[in-house]
Amino acid sequence: MKKASSILLSVLLIALCAVPAFAETEQTFGGYEHVFIVGVDGAGRFFREVDTPNFDRIFAEGAVDYTARTETVTVSAQNWGSILKGVSYLRHLHTNPSIANIEQDSSTRYPSIFTYARRAFPDAELSSYVHWGPINHGIIETDINVNKVSVGDDAELTDVICDYFNNGASPKLFFCHFDGVDEAGHDKGSNSAEYREQIMAVDGYIGRIYDTLEANGLMENGLFIVVSDHGHMTLGGHFGWTARETNTTVAVKGKTVIPGATMDSDTRNRDVSAIALYALGIERPDYMSSRVPGNLFKDVEGEKRNIKCDLIDAITARFTWIFTVLTQWI
Ligand SMILES: [Zn+2]
Repeated sequence: MKKASSILLSVLLIALCAVPAFAETEQTFGGYEHVFIVGVDGAGRFFREVDTPNFDRIFAEGAVDYTARTETVTVSAQNWGSILKGVSYLRHLHTNPSIANIEQDSSTRYPSIFTYARRAFPDAELSSYVHWGPINHGIIETDINVNKVSVGDDAELTDVICDYFNNGASPKLFFCHFDGVDEAGHDKGSNSAEYREQIMAVDGYIGRIYDTLEANGLMENGLFIVVSDHGHMTLGGHFGWTARETNTTVAVKGKTVIPGATMDSDTRNRDVSAIALYALGIERPDYMSSRVPGNLFKDVEGEKRNIKCDLIDAITARFTWIFTVLTQWI
């Protein structure tokens, strides 16, 4: 009897010790070896409204927000600048013409997340494969040894990216940018068959890239993000505050992401910079007004946005949000 009770006691003790071990959640901060960011120019919120089987299967176990807010100027350079730098366009001041004509170096006051990744990981591979070339010299710094490739066709770009990963590449931080959706948006508007077809095409490219990462074992410790800079008006084009322009997609998949979650309503596309730095274990500088959204990672409550850094932007974003809500049905 005494022996039986001591065995029972031992079993209970082991069980009590084992529970915390099993219950422990993996840590997001620094918990990832790789961050892969896929940028889709001009796609706005429209992954939700088009048949996108690849996006849907990838992010069925991820977190998605189709109403993440853009910069208040819904133009490409303003938004890619903020997505990669974590500050409002009022700080980095990039415009489409300005980034076309500069060679950005890391002495800039608001460097991109590539510069922070380079400082944290001096020997790591960092890569940027873009359709729209100015991102690679006007936003991502030219003096920090980033492997940069520019290919002016989305299908060809996908082939080049897949070859890159199939040849053993293992970048710490990877960014790519597709432009076909934006071109169709300008030509035909966001209600056109051509625009929807381009989103379906880019859905295929996203699926190919994701499957290539998985096949090469890079998603075991990888965080996969899809983000858009802005959408398009019904008749095409973008510059204003309508919902079609200012609602964008931010989608995140990784081992510490809450499956099927919707990020909190304050999410902005510039938060991708905070998410990437956090996942790689890099402290975010105080001046950044991007943040890790709530209801995204299992072990992160969601951070407060540092609006003091970007106060004018925070006020105008609130003001223009009213306009966006009023144009939800346009
Ligand atoms: Zn754009």
